[in-house]
This record gives sequence, structure tokens and C-alpha cells, in this order.
Amino acid sequence: MTEDENSETILKPLVFRVDENTPELVKNVLLERGWNKYNEDVKDVADWNLYWRTSAFRMIDHSNVKPWQRLNHHPGTTRLTRKDYLARHLKHMKGIYGASLYAFSPLTFIMPNDYIKFVAEYSREKEALGTKPSYWICKPAELSRGRGIMIFSDLKDLIFDCATIVQKYITNPFLIARYKCDLRIYVCVAGFQPLTIYLYQEGLVRFATEKFDLNNLKNDCSHLTNSSVNKTGASYKKNKEGVGRGCKWTLSKFFAYLRSQDVDDLLLWQRINHLVILTILSIAPSVPLASNCFELFGFDILIDDQFKPWLLEVNFSPGLSLDCSTDVSVKRKLIHDIIELIDHETSGQWINISQFGQKSTIHALSRYTSHNKETCISSNIFSLLQGKAYTNDLIALQKKVKVFPKEISTEKLREKKVSKDSVPPAFPKIRNRQTTFKSFHLFPSSESCKKKKNITPYFLSDIGMRPCSHVGDFALIFPFNEATLAATKNGLDLKKVIHELQKLVNKQPTTEAEDKTKKT
Ligand code: ADP
Repeated sequence: MTEDENSETILKPLVFRVDENTPELVKNVLLERGWNKYNEDVKDVADWNLYWRTSAFRMIDHSNVKPWQRLNHHPGTTRLTRKDYLARHLKHMKGIYGASLYAFSPLTFIMPNDYIKFVAEYSREKEALGTKPSYWICKPAELSRGRGIMIFSDLKDLIFDCATIVQKYITNPFLIARYKCDLRIYVCVAGFQPLTIYLYQEGLVRFATEKFDLNNLKNDCSHLTNSSVNKTGASYKKNKEGVGRGCKWTLSKFFAYLRSQDVDDLLLWQRINHLVILTILSIAPSVPLASNCFELFGFDILIDDQFKPWLLEVNFSPGLSLDCSTDVSVKRKLIHDIIELIDHETSGQWINISQFGQKSTIHALSRYTSHNKETCISSNIFSLLQGKAYTNDLIALQKKVKVFPKEISTEKLREKKVSKDSVPPAFPKIRNRQTTFKSFHLFPSSESCKKKKNITPYFLSDIGMRPCSHVGDFALIFPFNEATLAATKNGLDLKKVIHELQKLVNKQPTTEAEDKTKKT
């Protein structure tokens, strides 16, 4: 397109591409936000902006991706999401950086390779416990939703016929009215190079629907917290003491409950922050290089009665079905926020100025800003737009918007926004969530689309990155200080990052003194 062509032609809606398994929720949210669905019959492979599918992409998809396109998976992330691979990576990290840093992962054996080691540990523990039973959980490495899981205390009950892990069963879970629960925590890795991790501050708490009972290991509705297991159970619809109907709470309700019990929820949340970062670090150096992709993970975390978080597993393409009102309230906003997050992470990538030309770009920005109050535009954009021509148009545009940052670079902005030497205490902000600054939105909100039918999103690319400390309910948890920011600049300096985390972890009460978690 040349300078003189009408800028209208570049104002086309963003396009999303899906496959037959893409959750309805994702499609609906994108349509609400004014996106168009990609027409597979057109076969113009370049004519889409976001490809969202539940399975991994092929390497060829990654290498063919265009600057204006995003894929919702990063290559190599099954290293975290297959239970046996995760166990292997965490064990590797324990070997290098010490078991105490990675003590959030229950002792795990990968079958059949570790069978002899497991029998030795089982026998050792049995001897130590005397007549008391020891408890283990056996989980198929590649299955999900509680399928094929078995809890046992007698070795003769251990049967497996596929890749499986056997893990120490946590026998002292935190219970509410004797119901077991675990947390579904959403994590978005906006990029592995440089490593950028956001933690979602809302989430789900999933309850077992029968009271916890170690005398009956066969009752899945007492020991497994998967909603796919519990929603078919006899007690799902009952109004259960302390928990209510169904099997889910929001994370904010759970934390409010903890506060009502005088539990230091902030400390627990910081431990979860560390657990998430340390887990992702276990694969970060080994994932293949790829750009223009992000990954939404679902971390399953069990809290024990000492308020210690335990990592149970990491889910690839966490479930986005809407089974109850809690799902609707959490997952709809989650998808809206993740689209906002990609927007922010790629902000500055709105219109390719070199492709569309100075005039068209100024024109497009002016149109956008006249419909969107408080538009913020990076000063980088202005410097790229400066030239001999169209100075008056540019000055007019500059008057209409807030320019930021005034004199600091985008990197400095990021450093400024990350708290100096600690992981941002993300959780307390949940009651007063606000993005730190309003920025120019690549993807218009559903409201703005509804109100202004003539507004269509458009694309600018390759102008610069501006990671943000909060986007919607996503909080940046990595990098978390200047040292970790510097450690991601030219490849990942894992040792340095672990050193910084070690300092944070050491500041916290030790797990042996978990009772200090209680404020009293
Ligand atoms: P799946 O992929 O099948 O959901 P998970 O590892 O998430 O497998 O386990 C399913 C459920 O089993 C968890 O949500 C939790 O309630 C329970 N569970 C899993 N591992 C343990 C463990 N080590 N200790 C206690 N409960 C566990």
C-alpha cells in the first residue's frame, strides 16, 4: 500500500483461526471483541492474526508464522504438562539447585524405570511407620481429568500398563468442613525468550464432594478434586456444609475464607508465585526458540494443613468448558484478559509503519483516538512517525493522546513497573485490580465495538515491546526485579535467576515453621 492510498483499506478486523476442538468460549470472546473468524476455504494462510487450538502446533507452523500472527502454544511445553516429563525436569533441578528449593513437588517415581527405586522407598517407609500405612497415588502420565488414577497403601495394589507416575499421596490436605480441595491457577508464559510469566490472580478452587476419608481409598469423590469426577457424583448438587452446592469456588472466595480464618493469604500467594516460576524455569532453557507464541497453563496446586502449596501437575490447554456459574465468571474474563495481555505484550505492533506509510498510520491512529478516550501511545511510535511530511497531522494527534514514556525507554518502563526486590504481591490487588496504565488497545473491547460500529481494529507491527506489570487480572511475576530482568537479556542466566529466587525464598518462614503462617 502506498502513502496516498486510503487508510480505510488498512482498517480491517483482526482474524482468528480455530480448529474443531477450539473451545466455544474462546470463539465467543473473540467474536464479542470484534474479531472475524478465519475462513478455511479462502486458504490465504497469511490472513489471520491469532490461531487458537487445544493441541500443539507443528514446528513448520512455528517457522511459517508471520510478524502479525500469534499461536497459542509454544513448542516443547509438554516437557511441563506430561506428568513423567515434569517429574524428570523437577528432579533434575533438585539435583542441581537443592531439594529444599523444589520441595513443593511430592516425591515421584516414573514407572516402569523407577520401579526398583520405588519398592526400596516403599519398604523403607513401611519399616519407619511400623503398623501405620503409607499412601501413594498412581497416575497415568498422559491422561487427565482423573482418568486411570488409583490411590494405594499396599504395594500389591500397584498395577500399571502404560507410562505412569507413582507419587507420595498428600495425606494432610487443607480441608474445608472435611472436604478436600485444590487450586487451579492460570499462568500465561507470554514468551520464553525472554522469559515473561504472568500469573492470573483469579482462578478456581475445586472441591471433592465427599468428605475426606483415608479409610476408603476407593472413593474418588473423596480423594480426587477433578470436577469431571465430582460432577457425576451423588453429592454434587447437594448443599454441602461449608462448601455449598456444586464443586467449585473462585480463588478470591477461597482467599477471603482463609483471611476469615486468620491465615496469611499473602504468604501463601507468594509461595505459589515462587512455585510457578521455579517450575517454569525447569524447562525454560530447553524449549526450542520460537517467536509470536504464548502458552496458557493450568497449574493444579494442593494446599496442605500447614499451608504449604504442593504442585500436582501442570495442564496443557486447561479446560475452558462452562459447567457452572463459577466457571462462567472466571473463564470468560480469563479469555478476555489473555487477549488483552497479548495486545499489551505486542503493543507497539499495531500497524507496520514501513508497510502502510506515515500518512496512513497517522490517519488510522487519529481515527482510533477520536473514538477512544485516554489513548496512550508510546513515544517510540511518534519517533517512528516523525518526518518532513504530515507534521501538522502528527502534532494534532500528539495533542489528542497521552504519550508515554516521556523520556525513558520501554525497558526502563518495565523495570520501573516491577517492584524492586520482591515478586509483586499479586493477590492483595485482587480486590482493587487495575492495570497500571491505560494503553492504546490493539484489540478494541467488546463494549467499544458495540458502541461504535465503525471502529475496526487494525494492526501495527514491529515497533517495540512494552511488557506491563498488570493486564486485567494477569500480574507479571517474572522477571521480578532488575537482576532477573538483566538475567533474561542475552539468553537465560538460570543460575543468576535461581540465586535471586533463593534470596526471596530464604526471606520467608521455613516450611518447618509453617505454623508461623498463622498470624496468631
Ligand atoms: P489429572 O491430570 O488426571 O487431573 P492430577 O495429577 O491433577 O491428574 O490428579 C487428579 C487429582 O488427584 C488432583 O486434582 C488431586 O485432587 C488428586 N491428587 C493428585 N495427586 C495427588 C497427591 N500427590 N496427593 C494428594 N492428592 C493428589
